[in-house]
Amino acid sequence: MSIPNNLSSILKTIPPGVKLIAVSKTKPESDILQAYQAGQKIFGENKAQELAAKCQSLPKDIEWHMIGHMQSNKVKYIAPFVHMIHSIDSLNLLKEVNKQGIKNNRIINVLLQFHIAEEESKFGFSEEEAKELLSSREFSELKNINVCGIMGMATFTENTNQIQKEFSHLNSIFKKLKSEYFTNHPNFKEISMGMSGDYLIAIKEASTMVRLGSSIFGGR
Ligand SMILES: *Cc1c(COP(=O)(O)O)cnc(C)c1O
Repeated sequence: MSIPNNLSSILKTIPPGVKLIAVSKTKPESDILQAYQAGQKIFGENKAQELAAKCQSLPKDIEWHMIGHMQSNKVKYIAPFVHMIHSIDSLNLLKEVNKQGIKNNRIINVLLQFHIAEEESKFGFSEEEAKELLSSREFSELKNINVCGIMGMATFTENTNQIQKEFSHLNSIFKKLKSEYFTNHPNFKEISMGMSGDYLIAIKEASTMVRLGSSIFGGR
């Protein structure tokens, strides 16, 4: 299968209202261009410097999403242009994004990442931690960020029942936060969940953004 063929068969399975983020991490620019020429304009990367380098040399109308765990000292590489950072997992990181937003005179879109999987290795807030963050005075002072919703990754397992439960849990966290902290914030509307192996389950559980890499570009 070719990249354009993969893309077009995947797009047939994604309803309108769900955004496809083509995850191009580790893939060469020539692969990204093939997807771009087939009409895909939204790409995701998980390393700040790789993202910045690709942005430099690829077409300017690409919308770049940062989806991977990030150290605060890397935010500066992507702050001038990144469309959205999905992987906010600490107040410190959020403060740095805000600081870089001020420096670049822009408001940076972010999602709060939640730990919904069984594996310890995955990053993200618990519901309690997020509530503490959202109620804090420090958070309320951050004016150069725009919290657009939440993100999470399910456990890597064959057990679709478990995956479905984890996505459903993320959806319930979204609804609670929306009603407790973001009622008057129409921008808070995104649930970024679903990867190549589980995105159809995620869509059934109200995902608004799916992040697909290997099913478009092949294995890494
Ligand atoms: C790599 C990655 C993806 C895409 O994974 P695939 O299984 O290749 O679709 C999605 N989200 C995050 C956070 C990733 O790091």
